[in-house]
Amino acid sequence: MKAIPVIEKLEEWSRDYEHPTLRRSSLEKDPFKTLISCLLSLRTQDRNTEKTSRALFEVADTPEKILELSQEKLERLIFSSGYYKNKAKTIKHVSRVILEEYNGKVPSDLDELMSIRGIGRKTATITRVFGFGIADCIPVDVHVFIISNRLGWVKTKTPEKTEEELMKIVPKEYWFEINTLFVLYGKEICQTQSPFCSKCVIRKYCKRVGVVRSR
Ligand code: SF4
Repeated sequence: MKAIPVIEKLEEWSRDYEHPTLRRSSLEKDPFKTLISCLLSLRTQDRNTEKTSRALFEVADTPEKILELSQEKLERLIFSSGYYKNKAKTIKHVSRVILEEYNGKVPSDLDELMSIRGIGRKTATITRVFGFGIADCIPVDVHVFIISNRLGWVKTKTPEKTEEELMKIVPKEYWFEINTLFVLYGKEICQTQSPFCSKCVIRKYCKRVGVVRSR
C-alpha cells in the first residue's frame, strides 16, 4: 500500500506540532460544534477559527441558544472569522433547520447534512468524521486535493472525485487522520503556491505532479 509509508512519515513529522488543526478532533467531539466551527473556518485561518469558535460557544453552543442571539450579537461574536455577516446568516439558518426539522440534533447522514443550505460536502464530511467519529468518508479540502495530486496518488479535478479515489488508495484505518495530516502539511510545507520541497519529509514518495515552482 503506497499510502502507508507517507502517512507514517507525516505522523512522525507532526508529533511535535502544537497546531489547532491537530487539536480539532479533541476540541470538538460534538456534531453541532464541529459543524459550526467548520462553517466559521471557511476562508479564514485555523487560529482565527479556534478563537472565534471558543468565544461563540461560551455564549451559545446549541441551536436553541444560537437562535436566541440577535443577528447583531452573533455578528459581533464571530466578527474575527471574516465574512461575518454571511456566516452569521448561514449559522442562524442551519441552527433553525436543525432545531425545527431534526429536533435539535445534527443529522449524521451526509445527504441530509448537504440538503441544508450553506452546508457543502466538505463541511458535511468534516462533521461526520470529526463530530460523529464516523470515518466512512474522507473530507477533501484544497490541501488534501493538492497534495494527493502532487504525490501522484490521484489525477483528479474535483474534491468529490479525489475523495472517491483516495478511498481506494488509503486504508480505512487512516481515513480519520488523512485530512488532518494533509491540511497541516499543506499549511506548513506543501504550500499551495510554492511548496517547500527542499525540506519535505515525504519527497522520495512524491512525483511532484504539476509543481512548477518550489523552495
Ligand atoms: S515533494 Fe514537494 S510537492 Fe511533493 S509533497 Fe513534498 S513539498 Fe509537496
